[in-house]
Amino acid sequence: MPFSEILGQERAVESLRAALRRGALHHAYLLAGPEGVGKGTAARLFAQAANCEGGPADDACGTCGPCRKIARGVHPDVLAVEEERVMARAGRWEPKGGRTPSRDIVVDQIRELVDRRLSMRRFEGRRRIVLLDPADAMNPQAQNALLKTLEEPPPDTTLLLVSSSADSLLPTVRSRCLRLGFSPLPARLLEERLVAEGRSPGEARLAASLAGGSLGRALALNAERLEERRQAVERAAALPADDALAWVAFARERATDREAARETCELLLVWLRDVLARAMAGEGAPLALAELGPVTAEAAERLGPAGAIRRGDAVKRALSALRHNASPALVLERMVIGWFHG
Ligand SMILES: [Zn+2]
Repeated sequence: MPFSEILGQERAVESLRAALRRGALHHAYLLAGPEGVGKGTAARLFAQAANCEGGPADDACGTCGPCRKIARGVHPDVLAVEEERVMARAGRWEPKGGRTPSRDIVVDQIRELVDRRLSMRRFEGRRRIVLLDPADAMNPQAQNALLKTLEEPPPDTTLLLVSSSADSLLPTVRSRCLRLGFSPLPARLLEERLVAEGRSPGEARLAASLAGGSLGRALALNAERLEERRQAVERAAALPADDALAWVAFARERATDREAARETCELLLVWLRDVLARAMAGEGAPLALAELGPVTAEAAERLGPAGAIRRGDAVKRALSALRHNASPALVLERMVIGWFHG
């Protein structure tokens, strides 16, 4: 797969490709942005392009020896460091002294898998690449252990730190990397990709609007999971408008974890947009959730445009609170209570 298959992210990808073309690679990059938008793929492609024997200077052919080895994770000059337990499960790491593998990247991993390996000579590649993904799994000690390498990396070596919460990294680590920002993907791009993958247009539109800008999430929303969510909105739409307790019960039930709460909010937002469209444009309004037409019409009648907008704003505030680590149950409860007492 070449760089052109990464969806969106033209700026970040072009920075990497321009560096490859000029042969002037930075010693450390921080690929930062939300989950599921192509950061990990871009990092792997960069490692491949830097060592490729087939493609142009700024891309990977995907078929030569180095490209294939890197894709399989067995190239001796591409060092991949992940959470201890992920590496342990794959048989690529064993914590010292029989300790249970943690969810972190720990100091021992930095010493063994980065420092020690970088102190040896290169094997067969043109450029040595260290992939730290997710970089924010490094605990503070591990980050401090990496500082020396970030400051003075050996020649012909590039470190790629991949992170969906880059701001949680130590400032000393961040400041030693060139930051490349990856953005959430527009729903339209996700929808096009899903249709190209053979999804029906209706399913693609719904999955794209629920994915929060992540292709990974959009792809994971299969027909069954979409149906489950559609039913949740149908239930929400059918709740009595003036029964706040019923709404609180609904909120609690949908807030089993952060991801479920987020998806519920995204879904309510799609539906409230439909309610607003119906309230403004009447029967001819095109609806994202066409099957919910009758309940949407009823809600439009009841809430009017102002009510639909007000509820939509409350949902957006809830989404923002969820991103800032508030308790999912509390956030959803506050949201529905706000609908009735706003
Ligand atoms: Zn190649």
